[in-house]
Amino acid sequence: MNKFSIGVDLGGTNLRIAAVDEQGNLVEKVTLGTKVSLGRDHVIGDMCDAIQRMSEKFGDSAPLLGIGIGVPGIIDMQTGMVRGSPNLPGWEDYPVRAEIERRLKTVVILENDANVAALGEQWLGAAKDFSDMAIFTLGTGVGGGMVLGGAIWHGANGMAGEFGHVTVEPEGQLCGCGNRGCLEQYASATAVVRMAREAIANDSASALARTASSDAEFSAKSIYNLAIQGDEDARRIFRQVGRSLGIVLSAMVNSLNLPIYVIGGGASSAWEAFSPSIFEELRRRSYVYAATAPHDPTATNEGASARIESGPGRKTVITRALLGSDAGLYGAARLPMIEQVRR
Ligand SMILES: [Zn+2]
Repeated sequence: MNKFSIGVDLGGTNLRIAAVDEQGNLVEKVTLGTKVSLGRDHVIGDMCDAIQRMSEKFGDSAPLLGIGIGVPGIIDMQTGMVRGSPNLPGWEDYPVRAEIERRLKTVVILENDANVAALGEQWLGAAKDFSDMAIFTLGTGVGGGMVLGGAIWHGANGMAGEFGHVTVEPEGQLCGCGNRGCLEQYASATAVVRMAREAIANDSASALARTASSDAEFSAKSIYNLAIQGDEDARRIFRQVGRSLGIVLSAMVNSLNLPIYVIGGGASSAWEAFSPSIFEELRRRSYVYAATAPHDPTATNEGASARIESGPGRKTVITRALLGSDAGLYGAARLPMIEQVRR
């Protein structure tokens, strides 16, 4: 076997661990039912046991390069500590990286979960072969990450990539971050459900209202199903999602002129419903996009053709993520491989 590393996706509900070789082949993947609610020490214990088993299984035939861990929070890259995470109560001010390195006796790298998803898509997914890219992850909230020159862009404080908290409606919905009208309030799965509830309050006889009362798990997916069946209220909600993303993307395309922007996360499966509004908004608001748009921006082969184009002829590609929830696992496994090159 080739040299390999182990990637960890520390999610709110599941802990997933994968061995990935340098060519990007998934060698083994396990999902632990460990709940983050069981507490820090329990999670770290189970994680280290599983990593230990995996590294012993493959470590005899190939060298282990290290462990990469995607964490839902802000990471202090210097100290290897979690600086802030609403999803990981009790993890702050604890030497997470040092403790795991002490137990496993190998290189451990902690990284923000949206950043590892960016790295995964850049290495093996939609932005493969591009050294510069940005990703939006649409889930409960809206996350973001950037890879520039093949490396994650952290910014001065490790806080870069907070695209979800860019303003799209100056006097809009209040956001958990303290601002009003953040992208996250219009383009997350949570926002889709909130906008549907608002529409139901205005029209209790609508198909949305009927679905909400009959569907115990009234979710963004139920609303998407209505939208693809042609329900106008549901379609309007996804137009708002696309419009909001388009506004932020227009600013980014004008500011950064990156060759590719990837939309991922669970709610990106509603791509068909919201993407036309993204492209409409981009053409209207970004002259850089208008000048660099692919002939058919929704065509899936445009990504491939942009790959071989370069220089002034290069197109701006906005596309769906390809790796789904595995992006974070691959990206986490990639971290020790990049680190090895840098040393
Ligand atoms: Zn916000």
